[in-house]
Amino acid sequence: MKVVLAIMEIEQKALFIIFGGTGDLAKRKLYPSLFQLYKKGILKDNFAIIGTARRPWSDEHLQEVVKEAIEGDEAAVSLGAEFASHFYYQSHNVNDTEHYVTLRKLAEKLDEKYQIEGNRLFYLAMSPRFFGTIAQHLKSQKIVTTKGYNRVIVEKPFGRDFESAKDLNDSISKYFPEEDFFRIDHYLGKEMIQNIMALRFSNNLFRAVWNNRYIDNIQITLSEALGVEERAGYYETAGALRDMVQNHILQIISLLTMNMPASYSESDIRREKIYALKSLKKYSAVKVAENFVRAQYSAGDGQIGYLQENEIANDSTTETFVAGKLFVNNENFSGVPIYIRTGKRLTKKTTRIDISFKEMETSFFDSKKLGRNILTINVEPEGKVFLQTNIKKIGQGFDLVPSLMELQLNNENVVVPEAYEKLLLDALLGDATNFAHWEEVAYAWKFVDSIRKAWDDGNGNLAEYPCGSMGPRESEELLERDGHQWVFDGE
Ligand code: NAD
Repeated sequence: MKVVLAIMEIEQKALFIIFGGTGDLAKRKLYPSLFQLYKKGILKDNFAIIGTARRPWSDEHLQEVVKEAIEGDEAAVSLGAEFASHFYYQSHNVNDTEHYVTLRKLAEKLDEKYQIEGNRLFYLAMSPRFFGTIAQHLKSQKIVTTKGYNRVIVEKPFGRDFESAKDLNDSISKYFPEEDFFRIDHYLGKEMIQNIMALRFSNNLFRAVWNNRYIDNIQITLSEALGVEERAGYYETAGALRDMVQNHILQIISLLTMNMPASYSESDIRREKIYALKSLKKYSAVKVAENFVRAQYSAGDGQIGYLQENEIANDSTTETFVAGKLFVNNENFSGVPIYIRTGKRLTKKTTRIDISFKEMETSFFDSKKLGRNILTINVEPEGKVFLQTNIKKIGQGFDLVPSLMELQLNNENVVVPEAYEKLLLDALLGDATNFAHWEEVAYAWKFVDSIRKAWDDGNGNLAEYPCGSMGPRESEELLERDGHQWVFDGE
């Protein structure tokens, strides 16, 4: 552990080139996260950031935008101007080869000025349709250096099915080997998602019961209160299944169900995650209709329905909600239903995992009256872990009452770093553990494609749910058929 900390505290030398430097992601996530690394001294003197995009901005303008992006941070008052002075802007159309020549010259100049020693991170924060062309030009125009490292970080969505993901992957991996290719799934940068491995593998208590002998079912909820907002164009081509299940939910499932890796290393963890995803039970088209629910939000709670949203076709069949029952057929989890649901315009924004343990057969208590043990990993908004247990009711007799044990995760009063800050640091250190490997992406797409295909072939109806609810009735029925109910009722 000490060794890891020591590496992380070392100042990093790097030139970032952010494609899409004027975009929403850059302003809301990347610039504030880079500032956190600067505050910690990980980025100090030997770094520079080139923002590139189509708009004709100047360096000064980008620096103002960066200062605005970090404004809420107290440290920005003293450090903001110095931090922003490391930012440079180049107006750039990604299809124009000439622009890459200018970009190379600027990169070389900054490399020398800040003594960066050739380390480059190319962050592609723009539409994936440009990724291939950017990768190709980075290589052909020699923006990729021969001296330091060259890493490319790409944003989601990574394809819209297996075929398109493969094309996208091939178009980049022609120029960047897998070890230099960092596919962002920002859920993997979340502290509580990273805690899954800590909980599972560092506590004998949990290790012992983390299997189909003790776990009855797992429930994963990724709910959003917002509607489609300004992303209608993209969302119409995606839907909840592609937008949330293929990446975030399947990644969470792989962390929850993988076998214990041989060591805490990128390759060992990856191997087990891939094996878990490969072990997802495949459904026939008819079984997809039985085990998956898709739905669209309708007006309610003072909000308009999906079909009334701007830029949404009034006969759109895009799902804004999906629920499903999955199985990972590996040795520890076969037979354990994993219920998932995600959707827009639900009661509130939350990400949580509820692990419900089996009922106990006992003659010591009236087992019907015993509450189940439930381990809840509340990823957000609370960032806490709870364990529901049974304890004795105070007083005469021997009645039982449920009690909630809260696991203290943050006993040092440290500020929990934002996912993007952690992922940017991982990329600086060349550690891809918390990024999605191509094989993980490929298995996840193949699974999702089979569900999508069944729906497209007419299996499974599109249900409706009013805004401000927790989805359609069918989502409740999915669990009720098995004698279960959602632990999280949306409150
Ligand atoms: P955005 O529309 O705000 O920004 C897109 C950027 O690309 C702009 O800087 C624009 O100038 C630039 N651009 C577009 N066409 C160009 C061209 N031909 N040449 C040069 N530059 C061009 O988008 P965003 O919200 O910042 O998202 C960027 C990427 O990140 C997308 O792939 C998106 O799906 C992904 N993403 C964004 C978020 C988010 O919170 N915004 C979250 C997850 C993933």
